This record gives sequence, C-alpha cells and structure tokens, in this order.
Amino acid sequence: MQPIQDAFPLLQTPKKIFITTHHKPDGDAIGSMLALYHYLTKKGHNVTPVSPGEIPDFLNWMPGVGNMLNYEEHPKESLSALAECDIIFCVDFNDFSRTKHLTQQLADAPQPKILIDHHLFPAPVWDYGISIPEKSSACEMVYDFINLNQDNKLIDLEMAACLYTGLMMDTGSFRFPVTTASVHAMAADLKHRGLDHTRIHEEVYDSWSEGRMRFLGYVLIEKMEVFRKYNSAIITLSRKDMNLFKVQNGDTEGLVNYPLSISGIKFATLITERCDEVKLSFRSKGNFDVSKFARQYFDGGGHFNASGGRTKTNFIDTIVYFKKILSDIHPQ
Ligand code: 5GP
Ligand code: MN
Repeated sequence: MQPIQDAFPLLQTPKKIFITTHHKPDGDAIGSMLALYHYLTKKGHNVTPVSPGEIPDFLNWMPGVGNMLNYEEHPKESLSALAECDIIFCVDFNDFSRTKHLTQQLADAPQPKILIDHHLFPAPVWDYGISIPEKSSACEMVYDFINLNQDNKLIDLEMAACLYTGLMMDTGSFRFPVTTASVHAMAADLKHRGLDHTRIHEEVYDSWSEGRMRFLGYVLIEKMEVFRKYNSAIITLSRKDMNLFKVQNGDTEGLVNYPLSISGIKFATLITERCDEVKLSFRSKGNFDVSKFARQYFDGGGHFNASGGRTKTNFIDTIVYFKKILSDIHPQ
C-alpha cells in the first residue's frame, strides 16, 4: 500500500468516487464516510457513499444520510455506482469481508482503492492508504486527511457534525485510552466552528424508545452473568429475547459496555444470536487484549480494548464454549 499522499495527484481533477464502510455501521463508520463525502464533493468530485446495510435510527439525522445508498435496499444502484466510479475509498474497516455484501465486488473492482482506517492488520489489498491503529477513530483520520490536503478551512458545520459523531462514539465520549491530546484538539477545532456537541450527544445517546430502556433493565437483571473469579461478565441475547422486546436495529448498541462499569470487571462480552450466525462483541479495561482474543477464538478482530467476532456454532454451544475458554485463560 502506497502512502495516501501518493493518491493526491489522482484527485487533482474531478472524479467519480465511491465510498464505503463496514456492515452494521456505527457512528464512526457513517461519520467518516459522510464527512469524506462532503469534503470530496466540495472539492468538485461526484461522490456516492454506500453503506453495505441498514444504519441505526440514532444516526438518521446525520447530514448527508439522504444522499447515501443502502446496499440492502438499493443493490443495483450501489453496484452501478461501484462499476462507474474512478476511485474507491474504504473507511473504518480493513478487510473486504467486513462489508459482507460487497466482499467479492470490491475484490474484483479494477479501480484504485484508498484506505483510511484504524484497525490492526490491514489486508494487503489497497493501492493507497493510511492505517494507524493508535488513532481513536476513522473520523480523526479523515480530519487528518483533510488537513494534510491543507483544506482545514473547508470544514463546515455539516462535516464537523459527522466528524464529531465518530470521534465521540469511538472514544466512548472521550474516556477510552485512545483519547489523546490530538483528539481533544480536534474537538476544540470543531467547537470553534460552532459545533453543537450537546445536540449530537442527545441524538446519539438520549433518543431511546421506552421499549429500549425497559429492554436494558431486563438484560441487566436477567441476561448478565458476572464471573468474579475471571474479572469478567457476559450478556447473552437469544432471538427469543430480542423478539419479546421487539428489539430494533441499534437497540443493542452499547450494551456490552455496561458490565465494565462494575468495579473489578475488566472483560465484558455480548453474545447475540443472529439469523445466520452468532455475533460476539468484546470490550476490556486495562491490559486484556480483546483484539487478540477475537482473532484467536472467534474469527474476528478490532482494537486492543474493543473487538468483535462471529461463529456458525449455535447460540447455546457458543455460550458453553465461551465459558470454557474463560476458565482456561483466566483474564486478569
Ligand atoms: P462491535 O463489537 O461494536 O461490533 O465491534 C467492535 C470493534 O471490533 C469494531 O472496531 C469493529 O470494527 C471490530 N469488529 C467487530 N466484529 C469484527 C469481526 O468480525 N472482524 C473484525 N476483524 N473486526 C470486528
Ligand atoms: Mn472506528
């Protein structure tokens, strides 16, 4: 992969640009994709942002969402945008399979591909790009990319809102260890432009339905198991649980973080039964590397303190297997 600066000459004249991100996108995925969309559009390009799937309701307010294609709703338009583009940007993921539906199409696409990402171990499939696992978020990296182009003054309130959303969400509202001084400096820069950070926080975190709040209560009482011996806790959600509470897309967001608020709990896992697989989300405080854990046991990856994985083993057997691993490895 050549440094991202080497791709700048490609962007000197107006181009058709396709941007995508990972499946089940979060605020950093959509925020970085839309911020880049606004920026490249301002630079005179014709840009199509494509989400591989549905986005959660709490991100529906984001500037530019209306110009984005959801592959699951519009597969034909999404694929023709890909076929017709001159350049492909990929943000907030580093392996084509993370897009689920676009895996093969991206692999087969002949156009130059540019990566902007902060996950470990990028697949060797990009022509140009920047991959820095120490960075808080893809949004911070899009901001750096804009500055590298000496275009800081082009950042408007719409771009600022997109960038801030990913920065806020991927740093756990500025509390995770990835929250560097540069993260705060970026937030300050956005704030100087008139960013309404309170509104963004409310849109993302205080827009729950009553049902979602009651579902959280149920989950914490009935579905969380704490293993003091292993400094760990798990939350297990079957399809039946989710149907009972009519759980919507995005309603399980953030659940995995709750056990880490218990003193002494260093490792939290959410095991969710999906139609075609079982999804696992891992979070840790301190020195337990959940990225390594996800890679080793659940075909996954991510970051040191936040990762995910999946398995085709059924839900009940996955829970049994997970508990066995826990007793074998004794997370500290
Ligand atoms: P989440 O638990 O929120 O789905 O994911 C947490 C982090 O782990 C995110 O940065 C996400 O990109 C990464 N992640 C989640 N699932 C997978 C996976 O199956 N494979 C890889 N490589 N990373 C994942
Ligand atoms: Mn991210």
